[in-house]
Amino acid sequence: MAPQPSPLAFIPFVSVENMMRLVHHFGIETVLHELTDAIEADYLRWSLFEKAPRLASHSQEGVIELMPTSDGEAYAFKYVNGHPSNTAKGLQTVAAFGLLARVDTGYPLLLTEMTLLTALRTAATSAMVARRLAPADARVMAMIGNGAQAEFQAIAMKAIVGIEEVRLYDLDPEAIRKAARNLQGSGLRVVACETSQDAIEGAQIITTCTADKAYATILSDNMVGSGIHINAIGGDCPGKTELHRDILDRAATFVEFEPQTRIEGEIQQMEASYPVTEFWKVLSGEAEGRTDARQITLFDSVGFAIEDFSALRYLLGKLDDTAFFQQLDIIADPDDPRDLFGMLQRAA
Ligand code: NAD
Repeated sequence: MAPQPSPLAFIPFVSVENMMRLVHHFGIETVLHELTDAIEADYLRWSLFEKAPRLASHSQEGVIELMPTSDGEAYAFKYVNGHPSNTAKGLQTVAAFGLLARVDTGYPLLLTEMTLLTALRTAATSAMVARRLAPADARVMAMIGNGAQAEFQAIAMKAIVGIEEVRLYDLDPEAIRKAARNLQGSGLRVVACETSQDAIEGAQIITTCTADKAYATILSDNMVGSGIHINAIGGDCPGKTELHRDILDRAATFVEFEPQTRIEGEIQQMEASYPVTEFWKVLSGEAEGRTDARQITLFDSVGFAIEDFSALRYLLGKLDDTAFFQQLDIIADPDDPRDLFGMLQRAA
């Protein structure tokens, strides 16, 4: 979809409340399906996009990141943080907002909350990758880390990959209870587990989605058998990983944008020569995905700007004929474009 001309200086703004109304209106599984296809369509246009590792501002508590990209017609950026200690203060670990703009005029097309949209696009990206790399008969997923992202991940894997059972584990039993409660009625069989070892029992997909600013070992080598797909979401920052490096030695590893993942992903633990495949190449047929049933495939997910670009364009398309936005007056619009001062003066 090409960006629509904006006849007015007003631009649509999607608040958290309107995002929730929109998701309920269309249905979360429909949104996740459509978002998965939108991201996949943009991954297939990979060479058209401007790509760079995101700009990260690190502090002791966390990170604040800007994630820009453009396909030459539209430009997008997301502002997002990652602060694992936030939940103890009653705040989100990850919060975000983002903007889509026209390249030809530089005028914004959309401003939106992206905390919910990030959870949706991260789940859609996980499912997009798992539907190509997970074993074809995958029906059980272990979900280690049951925080804000967890239910989105589980529902996307059900809707897009066909998972029937999710096995939950978190260090905090309250997080397990919350996720189990929220997934009631989702159509998934939900099993609350007491250890991560218990959670991976019988699972063909293991999703790690924990938050700790540390080289953590959520999975050790002896926990991962052959034929597993690992969807590693939580290690997404320098000094913040989830997998023991011995697992990476046995796995075929797939990444979003290699230069960014070398800095932020699980592979920051490995030498620069450690081989990885950018996932768009699997979609385009330039590289192989899973090559045999016993292989361990690893999606070393960190989150890449193109996924946010896709999510923003998808959202803008969904706003047509709905009331799930407000018009925001953020671009000055004098009758004579050079008479900005006159506009200010007349407003006195
Ligand atoms: P959250 O803080 O809401 O939840 C994290 C959960 O992990 C908590 O419930 C915590 O108790 C649990 N946990 C911490 N250490 C654990 C351990 N050793 N074993 C088991 N559980 C443990 O965070 P969230 O919003 O759900 O995000 C989870 C992670 O995903 C974060 O690290 C975030 O940065 C990352 N993330 C990645 C992407 C991506 O695109 N790859 C997108 C969004 C978030």
